[in-house]
Amino acid sequence: MKITVVGTGYVGLVTGTCFAETGNDVTCVDIDVNKVNKLSAGQITIYEPGLEKLFERNLKEGRLHFTTQLAEGIKDAQVIFLALPTPPGEDGSADLSYILRVADQLGGLLQDYKVIVDKSTVPVGTADKVHAAIAKNAKVEFDVVSNPEFLREGVAVEDFMKPDRVVIGTQSERARKIMGDLYAPFVRQGNPIIFMDEKSAELTKYAANSFLATKISFMNEIAILCEKLGADVDMVRRGIGSDDRIGKRFLFPGIGYGGSCFPKDVQALVKSSQEAAYDFRILEAVMDVNEKQKLFLLPKIQAYFGNDLKGKHFALWGLAFKPNTDDIREAPALYIIDALVGAGATVSVFDPEAASNVQQLIGDKVTYAESQYAALENADALIIATEWSVFRTPDFDKIGAVLKQKAIFDGRNLFEVPRMQELGFYYESVGRSAAK
Ligand code: NAD
Repeated sequence: MKITVVGTGYVGLVTGTCFAETGNDVTCVDIDVNKVNKLSAGQITIYEPGLEKLFERNLKEGRLHFTTQLAEGIKDAQVIFLALPTPPGEDGSADLSYILRVADQLGGLLQDYKVIVDKSTVPVGTADKVHAAIAKNAKVEFDVVSNPEFLREGVAVEDFMKPDRVVIGTQSERARKIMGDLYAPFVRQGNPIIFMDEKSAELTKYAANSFLATKISFMNEIAILCEKLGADVDMVRRGIGSDDRIGKRFLFPGIGYGGSCFPKDVQALVKSSQEAAYDFRILEAVMDVNEKQKLFLLPKIQAYFGNDLKGKHFALWGLAFKPNTDDIREAPALYIIDALVGAGATVSVFDPEAASNVQQLIGDKVTYAESQYAALENADALIIATEWSVFRTPDFDKIGAVLKQKAIFDGRNLFEVPRMQELGFYYESVGRSAAK
């Protein structure tokens, strides 16, 4: 099938590459000239495990093309995916301007029947808006389908190639058949393609992300309670996770969720609810808890240093909002940096992939270490903000020898408390007693 993907960011590039991998001819369109030039020249623009190999193969075999020209990009396509940004607007609702601008342009460009697919995360009713925007100028038949994307950054290729489910919102038989054929290779193991109406598909994506964010904030509150009551959140997590109705996954407490999706999607659903005259109280609390959780370690750090961080120097491991990605959008590490610098401290940071993105964003507000151990030099304590695998079994002798004080503040519960006690570290984590 000939496919076009408009918007070649995290979702667009993974979508385009994975569809090419199953034999489709894919053209990716982006307005970012630099990005298109790099991709055309075989240079990948995001870090995503496993993507580069697929990208190179499909580019070489001529199934993957890049252009900045929408008209040229969509000319022969049967299906056009919109993988465009939907950032939060000033009031927290999803900003649809990127999508509607492209929809406006598409109307005049369509020369034969095409399926236009909303892959971006968009509020209920967007498929209708996109349809109306295209219809203003269109002289041919077309369908607008909602096909939300559930991939996770860090395992995006795996998620796309073997999705738990594919959700397709359409009431058109013609579009349903085309979308079913396109996704058939991805669900060969029997995972479902769930067909539904457009509005339900749109809401499914927000409901999924909001539910996951709720799980995180819930566990973070349980962790707070554990500390107050002298319980251990690891035990409680295992105790509840073994109940099938609850499940083991997504029960790890930490310093809050970040990234480009959960914060904005929860906020957008709250906003949609308000517009529908409904007060979604659980989600208000989820957001509130998460805001506070990002700085959960701060009082612990302050207490350790006698409430005076002026002149203190910290090593910070982990900048990305989660491991295996270079995405730093809404990353808790950035909030910690702000708070430390605001309190008069200096920070030396290390992240396996995300440092250059942070450097572009905040420049020399911090220093960038070449390695996790180099970050420790002259540091009074180590703070951990992202659970990258390379941080899980570090050389504790080296850490103890380099740090001015053997103190670790771990926002991701990477180490066992008794072991840290044995090693002689002052060790604070989330929802467990401290090693002192
Ligand atoms: P992104 O910012 O990484 O990529 C968007 C791309 O669109 C950019 O390359 C940008 O240059 C391009 N663009 C902007 N205007 C354009 C235009 N007029 N024509 C062509 N290209 C244009 O965003 P993303 O993370 O890929 O997210 C896209 C959508 O997918 C969002 O709605 C997001 O909520 C949703 N989503 C994201 C993820 C994720 O993990 N990142 C997962 C599921 C769903």
